[in-house]
Parts: sequence; structure tokens; C-alpha cells
Amino acid sequence: MQMKAAQALTTDARRSAGPIGGGSVPPEPEKSCARCQRLVAYRDENRDKNPDWFNGAVPSFGPQTARLLIVGLAPGVTGANRTGRPFTGDFAGDLLYDTLARYGFSTGQYQSSPNDGLQLRDAMITNAVRCVPPQNKPVAGEINACRPFLHARLAALPELRAVLALGKIAHDSTVRALGERLAAYPFQHGKSHAIKRPDGVGISLFDSYHCSRYNTNTGRLTEQMFQDVFAEIRRFLGTD
Ligand code: SF4
Repeated sequence: MQMKAAQALTTDARRSAGPIGGGSVPPEPEKSCARCQRLVAYRDENRDKNPDWFNGAVPSFGPQTARLLIVGLAPGVTGANRTGRPFTGDFAGDLLYDTLARYGFSTGQYQSSPNDGLQLRDAMITNAVRCVPPQNKPVAGEINACRPFLHARLAALPELRAVLALGKIAHDSTVRALGERLAAYPFQHGKSHAIKRPDGVGISLFDSYHCSRYNTNTGRLTEQMFQDVFAEIRRFLGTD
């Protein structure tokens, strides 16, 4: 299952990247990464209760040639933490994968399982924090500890042209991973920011509220609002 989840992770793409926030690391942490004590304890707790779940640092999903990187917050406990593929198996994934298909960023049928054969086209999904946090709420130290992996992920996508941040935490961590000041790039749903990827090439950072059940149930994010963001990204990238 881990192999499926880490679709197309090549040796080259695991190369080390720049030293933003704590040394040179590969774009994908080890499944058993132990940087965050609280998250390791929570993983262990989940493993004891559900030994057949993934229960580890969830690898990014998508091809290394992706022009779009989608950055979520963190794995959901019964979603990616269970299945081992980002946004797979929970409500947020239903909306995200449906929207990706609608805008031509996937082939195959999403069926809530890493074995469903779904492939992403020109897009990769990752998380600002790769391990599931209790109550879906990583603390600042955990976001900071995982940021070198986000920086390395951004640096290891040679075709990268756009990043979609799902929520403010993902946005802020992406801006910091790119070495920029938050004050110059405030999060705003529906906004795009001109920013530079780690090698200095200009890219666009798009913002959306997170496609969580809470945000859609409360009306903070409607399907139409989410689709509008993807329509803008598709316009920006054109067809591949
Ligand atoms: S959240 Fe990131 S830094 Fe922390 S233990 Fe998991 S992979 Fe390692």
C-alpha cells in the first residue's frame, strides 16, 4: 500500500533540498519519522488500536512532473492516517478528488482507497504536517518541524508552476518554506500571490479555505467556491 501511496517517488526526487528551517532533508520523511514527540505518541496510540491502519508519516501523492502542488494541513485520523494516501478515505477527500477530476487533474475513479487505481495528472498532493495530529490541530512546533520536508518537496518538483494552499496553516507554512515573510503574503480565500519557488523561478500561490467537512457544513466553503479556485488554477496552467 505504501508503494501505491508514494506514486512515482523516484530516487532522484528524494534528493536532499535546501536548508530552510533545520537542515537538509529529503522531500519525503521516513514513515517512522520521530521529530515530533506528541505526534509519534499519537501514531503509536492509533497503531495499538488499529494495527492494520497506515499510522505513519503520509507520503505525497502524484507525479514528480506535476506543475501543481496542493498543500493540505495534515492527515485525518480515519482518512490518510488510515489509508496512507493524502485525503483518501474521509470527507475532505471526496470533495478534493471530485474537483481534481472535474478540472482534469486525475484519471481513473476515486474510490476512497489507495488501491483504487486513481492517478493524478500534473498535480501532487502533500500536507504541511505529514503525521496525524490529535483533533486535527498541529501545534506550532510540529508545523515548524515538518517544514523542511515541505521545502524539500517544493524544491524537488522541477516543473512546479502553482501551489494551492488549503487553509491558512498550509498557506503560512508554504510561504515560510519558500523563505518569504507572512506579512507580504496574507492568506485570503480565492486570492493568488506571485511568489518564487526555491530555485528562484516565479510561481503562483493560490489560496482556498480547507475543503473540510466543518468548512462545507458551515458554508464557509461551498463546492462552487472550491471549483472557482480550481477553474482559476486551470486557466493559469492551461492544459498540459
Ligand atoms: S509531522 Fe513531520 S516532522 Fe513531525 S514526526 Fe511527522 S513527518 Fe516527522
